Amino acid sequence: MPDCAKASAANELRTKSLRDTPNYISYGYVQLVIMTLVNHQFRLAARPAGLPRRSDWNYAPEPVREPVDGQLLVKVLYISLDPAMRGWMNEGRSYVAPVEIGQVMRAGGIGRVLASRNPKFSEGDHVVGMFGVQEYAMSDGKGLNKVDPNLAPLPVYLGALGMPGVTAYFGLLDVCDPKPGETVVVSAASGAVGMVVGQIAKIKQCRAIGIAGGKEKCDCTLRDYGYAAAIDYKSENVSQALRKHCPNGINIYFDNVGGEILDNVLAQLARRARVSICGAISQYNSTEGVKGPSNYLSLLVNHAKMEGFVVTDYAERWGEAIRELAGWYASGKLKTREDVVAGLETFPDTLLKLFRGENFGKLVIKVGGA
Ligand code: NAP
Repeated sequence: MPDCAKASAANELRTKSLRDTPNYISYGYVQLVIMTLVNHQFRLAARPAGLPRRSDWNYAPEPVREPVDGQLLVKVLYISLDPAMRGWMNEGRSYVAPVEIGQVMRAGGIGRVLASRNPKFSEGDHVVGMFGVQEYAMSDGKGLNKVDPNLAPLPVYLGALGMPGVTAYFGLLDVCDPKPGETVVVSAASGAVGMVVGQIAKIKQCRAIGIAGGKEKCDCTLRDYGYAAAIDYKSENVSQALRKHCPNGINIYFDNVGGEILDNVLAQLARRARVSICGAISQYNSTEGVKGPSNYLSLLVNHAKMEGFVVTDYAERWGEAIRELAGWYASGKLKTREDVVAGLETFPDTLLKLFRGENFGKLVIKVGGA
């Protein structure tokens, strides 16, 4: 067993003993256990060119300290891997500040409160927040949400009942305002965001057409996510397939990938179409700059609009989306799929699955024993 895996296993034993500690045992015991914990972390070592490499990361342990007044210590159980992480590694202006060299890599996650000196949180609570790529996180409680592990498996709170679900919800309903009977095209249709967009489109009585890489993913969008047709962009001619499945044009395009697929879709917009720019994963690792659409005059000809959005624009309406998504999930109308990879130390390779199309569903890392 490698040293880091041995250290993680030792941490697991110690946190288990902490979890099993009855509440009446003094805080002094909790302090003692915390002082023996080691926090393995991935810090950004260099800004990547193209796909991130192992040398762009620094993986090292540091001691865990106790929370002071107002803080809580979280044992991270699952880490969310998101395409946006690639953008956060770049220098320059964006919707959020870049991760600085030497900082713990930013990441969403879900964890269990190990020790709390914040009155809003208690030991044992399950919380979602931006905990970073590490085993333990200290928080002042801001931006943290409690979740109920009895209502859904924990990784679902990082997917359909978390940030990607909320992205799908507002990116479709608010940005595109779908009407019954409209044709909605979605790229990366089997992914964390795309799987939810297709299902919401169906709930809103639209006809959803998914674009995904490979037969297995296409079959899944048809079988599980309410898509009426699927296009395998790796083996089909996308323009021809769109013409076949969208004979009256495309009313809504939910774009997750950008690049050539965006251009193909723009060429077949219906009058007054809406294009939601959610992401452009095909461009995130480009070393030659982002390739923009050449068919953009289709927006003029078709009186169409194209609008970008960031899910954090909807921070104040987060609860509204989660309540509705949770209702659909509980009633069986919203299916989810998570791709769970074990081991924090796999992070550099696991992240690349997103850009190689190797993830199947919402990609998360399971950190040690939950
Ligand atoms: P995901 O779809 O679960 O995983 C990424 C998928 O993208 C891959 O599995 C792959 O699917 C596809 N892909 C990768 N490289 C590609 C390429 N060169 N061309 C076409 N497809 C490619 O990821 P996600 O978390 O749901 O994110 C989807 C998009 O939403 C990303 O662009 C992300 O940045 C964006 N996003 C935006 C917001 C926002 O606030 N605007 C929030 C969350 C996510 P295939 O195997 O099907 O190719």
